[in-house]
Amino acid sequence: MEKEVLIFGHKSPDTDTICSSLVREILDKKNGWNCTKAVRLGDVNKETQYILNYLGIEAPGLIEKVEEGQEVILVDHNDFAQSADGIENAKILEVIDHHRIGNFRTAEPLYYTAKPYGCTSTILFEEFKSLGHKIEKKEAILMASSIISDTLLLKSPTTTEYDKKALKELAEIANIDVNTYGLDMLKAGTELDDFSAEELVNLDAKDFEKEGKKFVIAQVNTVYINDVLKRQEDLENVMRNEMNKNGLELMVLAITDILNSNSEIIALGENAEDIIYKAFDKKLENNRAFLEGVVSRKKELVPNIDKSI
Ligand code: MG
Ligand code: MG
Ligand code: MG
Repeated sequence: MEKEVLIFGHKSPDTDTICSSLVREILDKKNGWNCTKAVRLGDVNKETQYILNYLGIEAPGLIEKVEEGQEVILVDHNDFAQSADGIENAKILEVIDHHRIGNFRTAEPLYYTAKPYGCTSTILFEEFKSLGHKIEKKEAILMASSIISDTLLLKSPTTTEYDKKALKELAEIANIDVNTYGLDMLKAGTELDDFSAEELVNLDAKDFEKEGKKFVIAQVNTVYINDVLKRQEDLENVMRNEMNKNGLELMVLAITDILNSNSEIIALGENAEDIIYKAFDKKLENNRAFLEGVVSRKKELVPNIDKSI
């Protein structure tokens, strides 16, 4: 039997991470490569669960870490800090990603597809096209959902013409009305009430490092920022805990209003005030700042914080 190759996205998996892993496995099967298997590194969020339910399919299996020498394909991330435990000693065959290249190195040559698109699935969509494979309804819904999620219905500044074109074509194949389906899907991800503060903070948290300084930017989507802010004290306690446990310089929780495209951030850290002021020209008040028009971690939060830390 051929060795199994694992396909996975980042920790705290989001829709693009899960759906692109599944789509990549489908694409491999179409190419006659049967030994790849989508897996995940954490719980599926409610938005992604909505999509899996819609399709009546199971989430990929959960793995805790990768063994030394395990062959893997990374989607939707490259930074080792966001990848599987043990990734340093795995054999990375390929990366398909739409993020900046951060802490990434390999011992051996590899395939690396990086495009500055709004979504990994848009890259996969183009691979279906260039390989001449027919896109079936299932993968159309998976890829359309990824694009809707990562671009917040094409409203995020990360959105490119390629994403728009892909979503239009995928929606036709999937036979969905993008706005109706998209809002239902995004809203499913904003049902946050039954989450503990700890779950909320870790729902979509990403680790970063700059010159030895570690910082985390977590994000939650909502349709009503104040609902989340009611729990500020609890959220801050969890954030302080995380900071102490992991020796963080800064921890930011972005609460993003997906309907009006704004974010309120809670920022903690010894130099949080200075960093946020430098990054966004905003003064923290009660550890918070309202960032009008800001929705993208990748294009707005990370670059501004990274250069200010
Ligand atoms: Mg992602
Ligand atoms: Mg993505
Ligand atoms: Mg995301």
